[in-house]
Amino acid sequence: MTEQTTGIEIAWQQKLDGGEFVIQQCGECKRHVFFPRELCPHCGADALGWVAPVGLGTVYAVTTVRRAAEAGGDYNVSLIDLDEGVRLMSRVEGVDPAEVTIGLRVKARVAKQDERAVLLFDRAEGDAR
Ligand SMILES: [Zn+2]
Repeated sequence: MTEQTTGIEIAWQQKLDGGEFVIQQCGECKRHVFFPRELCPHCGADALGWVAPVGLGTVYAVTTVRRAAEAGGDYNVSLIDLDEGVRLMSRVEGVDPAEVTIGLRVKARVAKQDERAVLLFDRAEGDAR
């Protein structure tokens, strides 16, 4: 399998580089879509448009990746369900990895990392427990 970057993914990254986190919404069935794609995975329409999500979500699953302290220490990789109903993979920052648990409420933030914009999450108020 070859790794291909489609035009729509490049467009998404360019928006992120500009500090803007967007997802797609289908103009036909109105459902939200992420990761960016050309056709709606729900109904097949090609009527996807960019929308700005609220940015709030809930940790669905989390893995702690072990890393030497001198390399920055442990970090987490989380699957996060946005309130808009899409799931994405990211990292929760500013919290001890052991404290990132399923159900934790998080908020999206665009950060710069190695000259590139990345999507990260911070802890938000009001855990869904
Ligand atoms: Zn659709």
